[in-house]
Amino acid sequence: MLDLLIKNATIVDGTGVPAFRGDLGVTGDRIATVSQGLNETAQTTIQADGLVLAPGFIDIHSHIDRLIFKNHLAQSKIFQGITSDVSGNCGIGSFPVDTRRKKILLDYLNMHSFFLPSDRVSWSDFSGYAKKLENTGIALNLVPLVPHGSLRVAVMGIEDRQASPDELKRMRELLHINLRQGAWGMSTGLIYPPGVFSTTAELVALAEILSRERTLYASHIREEDTDVFLGLEEAIQIGKETGVRVQVSHLKAMGKTNRGLSRKILDRLEKARKDGVDIFADQYPYDATSTTLAVLIPSWVQEAGKEEMLRRLSLNSLKPRITEEIDQTIRSRGGPKRVVISDLRTKKNQPLIGKDLGAIAEAWKIPVADAVIRLLSEEKAAVEAIYFSLDEKDVETIVADENVAVCTDGDGYDPDTDSSLSPHPRSYGSFPRVLGLYVREKGLLSLPAAIFKMTGLPASRLGFSDRGFLKPGFAADLVIFDPHTITDTSEFKNPHRYPTGILYVFVNGRSVIAEGRLTGERPGRVLRHSLR
Ligand SMILES: [Zn+2]
Repeated sequence: MLDLLIKNATIVDGTGVPAFRGDLGVTGDRIATVSQGLNETAQTTIQADGLVLAPGFIDIHSHIDRLIFKNHLAQSKIFQGITSDVSGNCGIGSFPVDTRRKKILLDYLNMHSFFLPSDRVSWSDFSGYAKKLENTGIALNLVPLVPHGSLRVAVMGIEDRQASPDELKRMRELLHINLRQGAWGMSTGLIYPPGVFSTTAELVALAEILSRERTLYASHIREEDTDVFLGLEEAIQIGKETGVRVQVSHLKAMGKTNRGLSRKILDRLEKARKDGVDIFADQYPYDATSTTLAVLIPSWVQEAGKEEMLRRLSLNSLKPRITEEIDQTIRSRGGPKRVVISDLRTKKNQPLIGKDLGAIAEAWKIPVADAVIRLLSEEKAAVEAIYFSLDEKDVETIVADENVAVCTDGDGYDPDTDSSLSPHPRSYGSFPRVLGLYVREKGLLSLPAAIFKMTGLPASRLGFSDRGFLKPGFAADLVIFDPHTITDTSEFKNPHRYPTGILYVFVNGRSVIAEGRLTGERPGRVLRHSLR
């Protein structure tokens, strides 16, 4: 007898082939059969006439690790059908930890709005981190990368210089240890300190280890908002020199200089692939980005970490140079009206959430750059913002590309406890938005192609051996949705809203969403990469 039988579903299996009508049986945490007219009995049977059955979605670029110790159910993720979630992205994440530089790491994570009380950071590496999460229990599978920024902090703090040969050796060792424990690759955040201080040679030396261990190099590329091709060329070079699988994170054409260049960007990636470089990308389907407000602060000010940055921001002698550079960055991102505060910590500044920098500066009767400095100072640098600096046409061009995976770049929010925050809607709506807006309404791509971008493609980028497709023996990570009604409902002004049309989500054979409702189950695991 089967544990679960899904009958008469429209099966979209993750490979990109056309949908077919069929049944799927589950035993334990595995898919037992995929066929037609299955006559077996089961503990639970779901009649799925008119509904799509697909592999659980894989969020290949996520920051779920910022809130996972608070929101174990990661509601905003599982409600969109995500069953595996790749953490530790953009070079930012909770391991490795060197006890001598723990304070620097925690400050670094704090600047990126991690919920991580210091007394709970008891681990030093992937294994310790994974154990801690498994003891707590999580609703979906976590797929951690080694964050290059945190790796650099562990070995050399936040310093604006090249790594010495000894330091580089130590980074390579630490990376190797964490990969051997099961990490799926390494991520970089080359616009943020300390990643921004690294040379291409350092990244190549680390990517050699990744390549040898057959793991992923995921990169938030350099100069993303100024000249995206500079960053792309570096990523391509790293792939070419080391043979590593490269994933360009949250691909976009941002700001004045890159607007309209999406086709050219995709063509460059295609050409690199033709030249033998294993390089792909991912994208969240919105015309606005979101990151720390400190991204507006020049990196030389951020050298040596948070405390030093705040000290420098308070110095009158540096102010003219700093404010000029802040203004320049704001201009390149489209101006102060396009930067909206989404998250900060003090009670006093709560009313500023949802307001743009122009309005805040006006209310305070100070110049915009001064308002940025004041906000960061009062909030001890923990401020998140949304930047409306993308063109919808570019977003659509990238959505239509079958070689670009879908991601959220977002967190796992709980609408009940996070309602005071105003996060980017991508954390709630990315996957259903592609299926509703871009597949059904705009017809930019077919349903099987979109599902492939959410399942088979990211699974193959990560090197999964038993997830991402509906096949016997594969993990029973499943999503059942209504293709006629699926849609995102989260909006910039009202973000904490779940999508509609997703009826069931199964993680390792157990339902986390049933009949559209949260079950409260925590069947998720921390997945380990292994060389087989
Ligand atoms: Zn990023």
